[in-house]
Order: sequence, then structure tokens, then C-alpha cells
Amino acid sequence: MSIATAIEQIRHELPSTVQLVAVSKFKPVEDIRLAYDAGQRAFGENRPQELALKAPLLPADIQWHFIGHLQTNKVKLILPYVTLIHSVDSERLLAEIDKQASALSKTVDCLLEVHIARETTKQGFLPEEAEAIARHMGEYPNVRLRGVMGMATFTDDFEEVRQEFRTLKALSQRLSDIPGCDQVSMGMSEDWRIAVEEGTTIVRIGTFIFGKRN
Ligand SMILES: *Cc1c(COP(=O)(O)O)cnc(C)c1O
Repeated sequence: MSIATAIEQIRHELPSTVQLVAVSKFKPVEDIRLAYDAGQRAFGENRPQELALKAPLLPADIQWHFIGHLQTNKVKLILPYVTLIHSVDSERLLAEIDKQASALSKTVDCLLEVHIARETTKQGFLPEEAEAIARHMGEYPNVRLRGVMGMATFTDDFEEVRQEFRTLKALSQRLSDIPGCDQVSMGMSEDWRIAVEEGTTIVRIGTFIFGKRN
């Protein structure tokens, strides 16, 4: 299936209220250009250096989403490009994003990454930690909290995946009194339809669009 066809197919099924982020990590700029020509504007990258290399080579109206683990010393590198950082997984990182954004007189949109999976390898806050942080975002005036992000367990037990997405969605609903904090980023190539059923607002899809990564 071509990149354009894959995007078309997802768009056809995706409710208009859900945003598609095309995850282009490890893929060449030529592939991103093909997706762009098919009308796609939001792309996800997970390595700071790779984002900083690709972004200047591609059209300026692309919205870059950062979806990977971010080290504090790499924040500066990605801030000129990012629309939304999905993967804030520590308060130290939050403080650094705030500091660097302030230096650029910017406000940066962020999601708190929440650990919903069974695997201990995955990053993120416990739901109650994320909720506590969301309640004192005043400490970070140059960060705008837009919601939460999570990754389900890598399993073909779709009932488990659904329960994990429900946990994240429930947290998001508890935070819905915070102005602008209305986004839930969940769902990838294998599980995005379940995420849609459970009320996601952003899906992050790579393999289905661009093919397997080497
Ligand atoms: C790689 C990645 C994706 C996309 O995964 P696919 O299975 O290729 O769709 C989504 N979210 C995050 C955080 C990722 O690292």
C-alpha cells in the first residue's frame, strides 16, 4: 500500500474530531514529503537530533510532534520546531522545558506521559502523580498543559489494551476542568481503533503508513 493510500484509509475511518499524527521516525524526508503531498501536516518524531535534521528540510507548515523520551539537555534543540511534546515524563523535564521556553519568550504545549501498560520498561507518571502535577502547573508558566499521553501494553489481548486506554481516558476526564487540557494521545498502528472507541483525541500511527522500520 502506498503512503498516500494508507493515509487516505485512516482518514476515511477516523472521526473528524481525532487528529492523526503520522509517526515518521527513522523514515527519510522523501517519505514525509509523500505524506505531506497527500495532505498530512502533523508528524511525530522520537529522537531530538533526527527532528532537528529533518525539520529544516521540509515545508514550514508541518506541525512536529515530539513523542519520544526527551533528555533535559535536548530540550533546547527541539523547541524551535515542536508544536506539541507528548512525552513529558518527569518534573525535571517539565522545569527544563519551562526554562528554555521562557528564554525564547514562548509557551510550549505539552502532554504528561502516563504509565498505563503492564511492562515496566515504558515511561511515564502514575495517573495520580500526573493529576497532582496537572494541579500545580502554575509553577511552569511557559508550559501549557494540553492533556495526557499513554502507550498500551504490547499484547494481542485487546481487552487489556482497552482497559489501559480507559484508565487514561478517565484521568483525562478528571482533568477536564483545567482550561485547554482536553487532549488524550493514545492509539498506534495496532490499536488505534480501540483508542478511538475509548475516546482518544490524537492517534500516533507510524508502521501502517510508512511500513516497517529497520
Ligand atoms: C513509534 C511510536 C508510535 C508509532 O508506532 P507504530 O506501531 O509504528 O504505529 C507511536 N507512539 C510512540 C510513542 C512511538 O514511539
